[in-house]
Amino acid sequence: MSKPGLPIKETVDPVTGSLSFPIHQTSAYLMPEGERYRYSRESNPTVEELSRVLNLLEGTESATSFASGMGAISTTLLALSKPGSKIMIHKDSFARSYKLVTDFMRTWGCEPIVPDLGNEAAVEKAGKADIVFIESLSNPILRVFDVDAIAREVHANHGILIVDETFATPINQRAAEHGADVVIQSLSKFISGHNDTIGGSAAGKRELIEKIDNFRRTLGTTMDPNTAFLTLRGIKTLHTRMAQINKTAMDLAGALAEDPLFENVRYPGLPDHPDHRIAEKMLEGFGGVVTFDLRGEVGPLDAMKSLKVISPANTLGGVNSTISHPSTMSHRSLSPEEKKELGIGNNTFRLSVGLETTDSILEDVRRMVS
Ligand code: PLP
Repeated sequence: MSKPGLPIKETVDPVTGSLSFPIHQTSAYLMPEGERYRYSRESNPTVEELSRVLNLLEGTESATSFASGMGAISTTLLALSKPGSKIMIHKDSFARSYKLVTDFMRTWGCEPIVPDLGNEAAVEKAGKADIVFIESLSNPILRVFDVDAIAREVHANHGILIVDETFATPINQRAAEHGADVVIQSLSKFISGHNDTIGGSAAGKRELIEKIDNFRRTLGTTMDPNTAFLTLRGIKTLHTRMAQINKTAMDLAGALAEDPLFENVRYPGLPDHPDHRIAEKMLEGFGGVVTFDLRGEVGPLDAMKSLKVISPANTLGGVNSTISHPSTMSHRSLSPEEKKELGIGNNTFRLSVGLETTDSILEDVRRMVS
């Protein structure tokens, strides 16, 4: 599907002509007027407007929205699996997704398949699973997968490929065009973009989204209309935010890589990143997350307390830069061995670049070691 002109125009309310789509703050609708709207857990016009816009952004056949990114992931995996399903997930995934597949879903009779780190191992194992779940840019070590190659293996085995595109956003990648059957977003991040909402989405093949949406109505992982409104508002500036964020993150990663205060700077735009060539093929921009280690012994809490511009927080993707310490925050549930394997050490930080100047972010990060 061709790329939509951005920003996507909202549907104009036919009754009032309101330029911004109204928040339909209602639990239920008059009966028997509408067969389409009955109860807002099932469907709500503001949430549907968001799903319409997301579907256009992703270039997919259909989309549906959820109360959170994890709501989207858990509902999608439960809707598409059954006892005995083999589900592949890589170790360097958002820790809750990883635990969902390797722990909770195992108790429901699914069998996790966990390849070694990196694209090659993922391609090799992808044809052995019924469902393959990848993050196109992994959290937090920013490995990049060749979605085309993985999709070929998955489809040769009649499997389903789910791609969590949260770090890339549909501005930097439209994974469905590379063969993803379902594309997941944590809308809480870059898409909404202002660190003020929690939401998720699944977009993809119509028959799969129908199944997932039906499960959403049953599980009740439904988005509320206020969040849909705020997410729609965030999306209006997504393309300009991402253009600036891609540029600042690239400049910053280059500066950190040359600075002796830092080491292990991970950013797919850097020529020495292990997946740089795949990233050039898969991404139109390298994204807003830069992961790095502070050199020497540091107290992570003290280092984060010294920041004046960047906020230490368990999130990413906002207009204000945030930083997290994966070992004690997003990836705290991993064992010491698992963290070591991923290269998540006590000195590792995940920086989400916002709209501040490169110089002000760089100066702030340097405060962590001075
Ligand atoms: N996917 C990725 C890649 C994430 O980083 C996160 C959260 O950090 C999620 C999914 C979960 O999204 P949410 O926090 O909206 O539930």
